[in-house]
Amino acid sequence: MFEKILIANRGEIALRVIRAAREMGIKSVAVHSTADADAMHVRMADESVCIGPAPSSESYLSKAAIISACEITGAQAVHPGYGFLSENASFAQALEDHGITFIGPSAEHIRIMGDKITAKVTAKDLGIPVVPGSDGGVPDFETAIGVAASIGFPVIIKATAGGGGRGMKVAQNAEELEIAFRTARSEAKNAFGNDEVYIEKYLQKPRHIEIQVFGDGKGNAVHLGERDCSLQRRHQKVFEEAPGPAITPKMRAEIGKVCADAVAKINYIGAGTVEFLYEDGKFYFIEMNTRLQVEHPVTEYIFGVDLVREQIRVAAGLPMSFRQDELEINGHAIEVRINAEKIPGFTPSPGRVRMFHAPGGFGVRMDSALYSGYSMIGKLIVHGRDRPEALARLKRALGELIIDGVESSVPLFHMLLAEPDIQAGDYNIHWLEKWLARQFG
Ligand code: ADP
Repeated sequence: MFEKILIANRGEIALRVIRAAREMGIKSVAVHSTADADAMHVRMADESVCIGPAPSSESYLSKAAIISACEITGAQAVHPGYGFLSENASFAQALEDHGITFIGPSAEHIRIMGDKITAKVTAKDLGIPVVPGSDGGVPDFETAIGVAASIGFPVIIKATAGGGGRGMKVAQNAEELEIAFRTARSEAKNAFGNDEVYIEKYLQKPRHIEIQVFGDGKGNAVHLGERDCSLQRRHQKVFEEAPGPAITPKMRAEIGKVCADAVAKINYIGAGTVEFLYEDGKFYFIEMNTRLQVEHPVTEYIFGVDLVREQIRVAAGLPMSFRQDELEINGHAIEVRINAEKIPGFTPSPGRVRMFHAPGGFGVRMDSALYSGYSMIGKLIVHGRDRPEALARLKRALGELIIDGVESSVPLFHMLLAEPDIQAGDYNIHWLEKWLARQFG
């Protein structure tokens, strides 16, 4: 096992990894920019290294600075958290070249899944059902029209290099497609430096269901069920739960096995998430994330496993600490993302938090790390024996939470919890935006 690992991240996820390392008896190294010298992750880690000035391009995204920090401190491995360099294949490769372990999948797997077209082709080859659409990049409008004619309108145009819900355009007919195709390409060029786009059938009322997978890199893999992340605003998740209210044990076992078998086949190592749209009993792959997800705690709660601990174990060459038949769902968990923003406008609410009181008690976990200039205040996760208990606990915990000095999205969740559709688990990826339009116009 490693003696010391470095965490190439900040905020709540850095704390999350430091905590797992400490429980495993592993020393942790925090890295930080000059602006974060007093941040919580720096205080909580055993050691810290300043790796550059405030702009993340010169600090948290600086591969050279992070590798130097490993060499100075003797850290044997790097946990990337999520965001920043977590899905950067050349970073994983650079670490390997320096004899440092990347706590995550191989550079090759990151590269394959980072390009959405290659990811889709790979998924299809591995037996995973995908959304109908173009077989690859769509070079011109004539091709786009041809694809749309064969799959039918509406269609969605997506950037090959896209991410974070950006670079997507929906078209209802040929006329709209012409404009959408052009704007999607120029937006993709600006945002990602790559104007390649592809086309998919636009599903009308799907749920966003994602399967958590985990591999040991030696041909063994398991799945840890699904998370329903359908409550989204501008393609960004705001509320996640596990198990998914619409997923039966039989469906879970089937799609879970397809995903676990697929990643086992490629000797995938560590945590991964296979994202699907789910409609009328069918799953359609959209992408795979080769890292720990923001919403991983809901899975941890219902399976009683520490996914970060497991990531560190397999990165060190140890076997996974559970087999598929040992993984059983216990109860229900919900996560809400609490942002510093004004409701209803969702405009950022900058300022200094004067008072913060995190909720506690049975079945309540608050993963937070307050930051100036950082929109997520924290994630509140609750666990109950069943869904109604989890909902009641969420309401209770939100009531205990005190954030003074900035506005937050807490009022939004109080309103959502009062909605019959939310109580019934009856929603899809469009529900939240339609509801917001009805509530606030
Ligand atoms: P990103 O990598 O930018 O997050 P995804 O491909 O994961 O993009 O899609 C993000 C969200 O966009 C999905 O959760 C869903 O809400 C919506 N979306 C993506 N593809 C489709 C589609 N074919 N039909 C309908 N909605 C879609």
